[in-house]
Amino acid sequence: MKNINKVMILFAMIFIIVSANSTISLGDKLDNNKPTFNVLIINSYHQGHYWERYISEGLNDGFSEFYEYDFNIQTEYLDFKNQGGKKYIDSVMNMMENKYPKGSIDAIYAVDDEAYNFLRNKIIDENSNFYDIPFVFSGVNKDEDSTKVDDSLKIGLYGEDDTFELIKLIQNLNPEVENINLIMEDSDYGESIATAISKFTNTHIKKKPKLNYIKTNYIENIVQRLIHIQDTKNTVNIVAGEFQYEDSKKYLKPYDTINIIKKYNSGSIYSNDNTYLDAGILGGCIDLGRVQGEYIAEIIVYKMEGKNIIDKYPIVEPKANTYINFNTIKEYKVNTKDISSDIIIRNKKFYETLLPKEIGYGIVLILILISIAVLLWVQDYLKMKKLSLVQRQKQKEKEDRDNLKTDFIVNLSHELRTPINIIRNSANIINIKLESKEIDKDVIRDTLEIISNNSCRLLKISNNIIDITSAESGLFKIKLKNENIVDVVEEAFCASIKFANIKNIEMIFDTEYEEIITAIDIEQIQRVVLNLLSNAIKYTNDYGKIHLGINKINNNVEIKVKDTGIGIPKDKLDNIFYRFYQLDYSTTRINEGSGIGLCIVKDIINIHNGKIEVESDMGIGSCFRIYIPIKNIDIKENESKVVGYDVNTIASVEMADIIR
Ligand code: ADP
Repeated sequence: MKNINKVMILFAMIFIIVSANSTISLGDKLDNNKPTFNVLIINSYHQGHYWERYISEGLNDGFSEFYEYDFNIQTEYLDFKNQGGKKYIDSVMNMMENKYPKGSIDAIYAVDDEAYNFLRNKIIDENSNFYDIPFVFSGVNKDEDSTKVDDSLKIGLYGEDDTFELIKLIQNLNPEVENINLIMEDSDYGESIATAISKFTNTHIKKKPKLNYIKTNYIENIVQRLIHIQDTKNTVNIVAGEFQYEDSKKYLKPYDTINIIKKYNSGSIYSNDNTYLDAGILGGCIDLGRVQGEYIAEIIVYKMEGKNIIDKYPIVEPKANTYINFNTIKEYKVNTKDISSDIIIRNKKFYETLLPKEIGYGIVLILILISIAVLLWVQDYLKMKKLSLVQRQKQKEKEDRDNLKTDFIVNLSHELRTPINIIRNSANIINIKLESKEIDKDVIRDTLEIISNNSCRLLKISNNIIDITSAESGLFKIKLKNENIVDVVEEAFCASIKFANIKNIEMIFDTEYEEIITAIDIEQIQRVVLNLLSNAIKYTNDYGKIHLGINKINNNVEIKVKDTGIGIPKDKLDNIFYRFYQLDYSTTRINEGSGIGLCIVKDIINIHNGKIEVESDMGIGSCFRIYIPIKNIDIKENESKVVGYDVNTIASVEMADIIR
């Protein structure tokens, strides 16, 4: 027996030494001027126990609010669950008396009823080092507190039984429950929970479920029991306490405990332990250790300050809340409409909803339909907008065309009236001369030339109108023949010189090539060249310069007509090829024209599969470039012969504008 005592004392000594190392100190904040409070915390369990850890965290937070003090915190773990027995308790008490001499501790805090029972008698024992030290507690069952300790010395939070709330929760979420597995640790705490549950199930659960007590500290035992208990659809599990592996005595993490239980039973798991709150259970009525810790810190400080705080504090712990873990609602197929509004939902993301599945789907469907409707409406709106834009554009184009036509008709009537008047006047002059018998041959010749020239102007206008209409209807045909384009262009150039001379314009013809044979319609190409030269002469002031060049570029003939004329604004360069387009009326009136010349030029070049480009600088001059692909065609000479055609005749027609 003596030996056993020795072993116990030795064990207790080792334990105390280990636990002394676990002292939590706020010493790094110690300030010589601040009063320091030495607080001894007594835990029943071991270091790492979750509930006690939450309490400690809350305590530290609470103490840190009182920055006018320093706190020196000593924590002891009694490890009652593993040891137990009166001798063990006595030996631990002895060691504690040795370890904490009188005056070394200012306040004691017992975290639960086992720790409370361990020390309560020492507070009133004059021989103890703990005599008369302010004694704070939490989690103590008020009904079982038979201590005679004066209320002025001890104060704390009596634990409140939240089992009734838990049973209510189970009744709501699993109204058909028939079996309850009570998985409890083998301790006073486990026992108290089991007792409370059995008290309420009979009275508060409709079907008076069968209770299966699984009271053990070892997970292996839990598994064994669960294997033998039928896993029905109306079974729920209640877990209380913490569990170990039998061999290693290692404590399981809460998450692992719950997962193992889930493996052997599919029923919803409930717990009132803060420990299991986020470890995969469905829910429970739970005190948060952290919150209690903060309360206790305040009580300890006020107690040490000597304040009378009995009235200030509720003597029971703060009301526990009922929680549900959102993540497990689906897993346990909970009908969300059974979740009352006072229940706190944990782990629910802001976009997640508690609505029943069908309503959720309905809402999603409505949202999808609304989105589709909005999308269709937007699409429709954009289409309408686009349509009205296209319509407006079309309308604008039509208006522009109409304006062009009106301008054209105004110009055309002017164009027609002028030569007609001139012809009529000339005819009158000849008539008068003939009647007066003063026949001056020179006057008559000049007047006849005027008539001829103005007839050419009329011819040019009518030719252009015919060509433009046939090009529009696709009837404009060319007669291709392999020709030396250098000669063809040069001929047109030569025919234009006399017209340039009228304005003293210098004409330069420039090419390295004597011969470039390609299939062209001579008449049309000469019309093109004459048209460009006619414009160049028209829009170049007296004594200006016109340069015509022929070149070969990438199997194309390039014909370039460059002048030192008035130029064309850059933003109008594309427009000049449009039918009837003429630059500003005031400018164009200076030179006669109908605004169709370049349009026909472009049509002719297009029919030759070529292209036309223009560059111009206002006040400096313009440069037109034509590119015609070089190709030879196999065609019989006779079939393609152009009869009755003369470049000078064409020139007279094309240049008719210039002579007024
Ligand atoms: P028009 O018969 O009026 O000359 P065109 O179709 O030949 O008609 O030319 C269209 C317009 O382009 C002309 O009214 C004129 O404003 C401009 N234009 C054409 N060639 C030149 C040029 N070499 N220099 C300046 N402006 C030119």
